[in-house]
Amino acid sequence: MRSEPVPHPFDLTHPAREQLPVMFDSPHSGRFYPVDFRMKPPLAVMRRGEDAYVDRLIADACEAGVTVLAATYPRCYIDANRDPDDLDYELLSEPWPTPLKPTNKTRRGLGLVRRYLTPGVEVHRDKLTVAEVRHRLDRVYWPYHRALDDALDRLQSAHGFVWHIDWHSMKSVGNGMTPDAGKTRADIVIGDLDGRSCDSALTALLAESFRALGYRVALNDPYKGAAIVRRHGAPHRNRHSIQIEINRALYLDEAAVEPSNGFDKLRADIATVTARVVEAAKARLR
Ligand SMILES: [Zn+2]
Repeated sequence: MRSEPVPHPFDLTHPAREQLPVMFDSPHSGRFYPVDFRMKPPLAVMRRGEDAYVDRLIADACEAGVTVLAATYPRCYIDANRDPDDLDYELLSEPWPTPLKPTNKTRRGLGLVRRYLTPGVEVHRDKLTVAEVRHRLDRVYWPYHRALDDALDRLQSAHGFVWHIDWHSMKSVGNGMTPDAGKTRADIVIGDLDGRSCDSALTALLAESFRALGYRVALNDPYKGAAIVRRHGAPHRNRHSIQIEINRALYLDEAAVEPSNGFDKLRADIATVTARVVEAAKARLR
């Protein structure tokens, strides 16, 4: 295998000036495809598995005082928004040494390591060894989680509470691998595990802020939040975590995986929503 320059497994940006108890992360927008990722489809097709450019949509938040974390490796390689044992036996060339707990997501091909890009389209050319999956966990998955854990711990101990927003984008229409096959989706889907992952005031603030800008907002349908929000959403401990899914039709040419004409407007609108979140967090500190 030829050697290649490898990026850090994440980009973590701290605000230059005032640091507030608000953190954003984007676990699915990574676009560095390493040579050990033996992909079956061509790169241009593989890229449709990304929450493409979500990192750029939220990048302005740093100037408003928000700490921002973004993955650099693609979610099909290893998915930080899954539990580490949510792995498909069928992907492996040999037995996994400890018990696995594959969930419905894995059964649909969307587990810790992605099996299908779209229904029937396999991600990997051949099966993976235990060492290969462990390499992905050690090199990418755990460093991402440690960075998120550490930043949230630090912000919470400095301010007494923290608001965390886990940002994603979704296909404009569900397919056979999602719970809503064939359905057209809202512009923005906010997931708070049916009210369990954060203060309801944060959910309401986000929903109202997007609606005020003209977006169609749905709550917990079809996405309620996954492993990251489950891991960090503990409102009784003053740690609030919420997921936002953005409809890709708003900002992306979904087939070409390139920003569309809507990108700049959406980016500006996200900055407006961010400003409202920051304002509310500041009010809570006073
Ligand atoms: Zn995502």
